Amino acid sequence: MEIKKIGIIGAGQMGNGIAHVMALAGYDVVLNDVNQQSLDAAISTIHKNLTRQADRGKITEDDVSQTLARIVPTLTLADVGATDLVIEAATERETVKQAIFEDLQPHLLPHTILTSNTSSISITRLASRTDRPERFMGFHFMNPVPIMQLVELIRGIATDEETFASCRTVVERLGKTAASAEDFPAFIVNRILMPMINEAVYTLYEGVGSVKSIDESMKLGANHPMGPLELADFIGLDTCLAIMNVLHEGLADTKYRPCPLLTKYVEAGWLGRKTQRGFYDYRGDSPVPTR
Ligand code: NAD
Repeated sequence: MEIKKIGIIGAGQMGNGIAHVMALAGYDVVLNDVNQQSLDAAISTIHKNLTRQADRGKITEDDVSQTLARIVPTLTLADVGATDLVIEAATERETVKQAIFEDLQPHLLPHTILTSNTSSISITRLASRTDRPERFMGFHFMNPVPIMQLVELIRGIATDEETFASCRTVVERLGKTAASAEDFPAFIVNRILMPMINEAVYTLYEGVGSVKSIDESMKLGANHPMGPLELADFIGLDTCLAIMNVLHEGLADTKYRPCPLLTKYVEAGWLGRKTQRGFYDYRGDSPVPTR
């Protein structure tokens, strides 16, 4: 089945990136959020990022205007139903995602494929609450979406081959690479990445190192492009905590217990870059470690 029109739910850091790459690849996009401010911020971020790509000669000025014209923002979830492919990229909370798929159901076309950009929640469980588990799968982008090459494609237990093939074709049209992952907590990338970030927070919590020394150690000692705490701030500490909780509960192994210091930052509302404060304070000219 050829996908032409894509509905994206959630216009946060992932949703705006997904809308950007989809519209740039020529897909018509309907972008939904519950919050007008998020929609406005998403369109302005997409505009800024497209302009940066044009300034670097990667795309033309015409591409910028045509891409923006292909994105229709809406506060009405029903508008997302009449599309070929839905990508849900709302807050990483299972109750939020379940409610979205339930509310969307009456507005779907018979052929609409449903997907979630969830970092960790069971695709099979989300799919089981819909009328089309065979047309449901995980479509997991990496952050920042316009730059990162990988998309994890996750089959639920019931996902059919046609659905998988349609999504893989979309990934190819974006010029990205698909990795197929099975539906177990946090899939491949986050199953490996999040315990490392959580361990970095334990290293901080136990006083083994400071924010600066931990990040510098991993950059210079393990050749990582970003330190783990800097990366955690970039991802969002609420998202990191949510993923650790899914690993902890889903695999029932204490080695995945979230660090209490990570919980404390989230409780403080220090969620990283998106709230201007996390393991670093971003309110000044350059980031300052908060510990
Ligand atoms: P975010 O907090 O930046 O954005 C979430 C958006 O969802 C907000 O704009 C919020 O208003 C909106 N929202 C909440 N409830 C909604 C609803 N009922 N209907 C429509 N919109 C709603 O979060 P994010 O980082 O963009 O993460 C979104 C999803 O992408 C999560 O499932 C997360 O696990 C996943 N993800 C995140 C990353 C990352 O690095 N941040 C990477 C890959 C996948």
